[in-house]
Amino acid sequence: MLLSRRNLLRNLGAGAMFGAAAPALRAFPLPPSMEEALWGNSASAAQPASGGVGAAEPVLLYRNENPYGPSEKVVAAMRESAAGGNRYPRTEYDTLVDKLAARHKVKREQIVLGCGSGEILCMAAMAFLKPGKKLVEAAPTFPALGKLAQTAGVEVADVPLNKRYEHDLPAMLSKVERSSATSTSSSGTGLVYIVNPNNPTGTITPRKDIEAFISKLPGGVTVLIDEAYHHFATPGADYESFLDRPIGDPRVIVARTFSKIYGLAGMRIGYAVASPEHAKRLAAGFPGWSVSVVSARAASAALDDVEYVRIGVKRNTDDRQEFMNQANARMLRCIDSQTNFVMMNPQRPPDEVIVHLKQHNILIGPKYPALDKYIRISLGKPEEMKIFWQAWDLMPSTGKMAM
Ligand code: PLP
Repeated sequence: MLLSRRNLLRNLGAGAMFGAAAPALRAFPLPPSMEEALWGNSASAAQPASGGVGAAEPVLLYRNENPYGPSEKVVAAMRESAAGGNRYPRTEYDTLVDKLAARHKVKREQIVLGCGSGEILCMAAMAFLKPGKKLVEAAPTFPALGKLAQTAGVEVADVPLNKRYEHDLPAMLSKVERSSATSTSSSGTGLVYIVNPNNPTGTITPRKDIEAFISKLPGGVTVLIDEAYHHFATPGADYESFLDRPIGDPRVIVARTFSKIYGLAGMRIGYAVASPEHAKRLAAGFPGWSVSVVSARAASAALDDVEYVRIGVKRNTDDRQEFMNQANARMLRCIDSQTNFVMMNPQRPPDEVIVHLKQHNILIGPKYPALDKYIRISLGKPEEMKIFWQAWDLMPSTGKMAM
């Protein structure tokens, strides 16, 4: 283990709260600064509606959750397993790992479970980074890994997306440094992070470009491909998961989550698929008990409920199209999204929009410095999006809110 858990937790300020044995991202809710860094808005900071169009409960369009929740079959499995909550996990992990291995046609030792894919990112940081090593990632992208690395004193190369909002892979390659000796040496690039589809832009980076990029990487550089939003992307020449069509490169790790299409963000469960050697390195030092019985049973049931995934994908496509229609009707430009959220240019200062919506009890994503003219809106249910657009239309005209 290159980056010690104790140091990482201390750096995160979470050690005192959770003890050195707790997985670092188990520390949700994160310390305020970390929560702010990841989500921009904290739910607890939501103000109650004061005469706005929003309902008493805030409309949560800020964390790319699944507003429809888990399937009925999954809820039933959770209910049933809760009664066995007095027992430590026994067969639940094995069942889930076996299901995942069968689903992805890999050996069971290639699967690593985590307390959300956030914990997988944390594992990757600890396994492949330490001060002196470098992380190469896009900007903007999902910030958790970069924040962890930075806090632990690791150099982070943030490479702006290209004009099509794809990862700029030639520019990222130019930032990759060869390590002086082996993958365990103290210098050089330890990890490259590719989020596909990307958060916050919702865009995909073409599969053939990622393959070409990986083929040019020096040996010993690990690539973490984060496929949190995989199910929402339209499969085709440009997008195909590295789990569905693996390239057989042992340096590639793929992270997936149950938080999005399966609607289990609150259950905190995700996983990685890696070569047996990398899987071992990822899990090293983690106690392996961060997933609860209820979460493991929920994930197993979610994998079995194929029909719910099909419905969820279709529903998301419809909700996204409706969002685009509403945006177009208001002459607002959106980045083409392959996810359950949309990045939109509000034609107004994003800060003012965020504040206005918050006053109406609607939370949207944070401002991203690397895309500072845009706001990110997670897709809610139709009735929530109606509230969103009603509040939108109450904003003063652009003349008064000029940029
Ligand atoms: N990766 C990406 C790209 C994300 O957007 C998120 C959360 O939104 C995560 C990972 C973490 O997800 P979780 O820890 O809920 O699996």
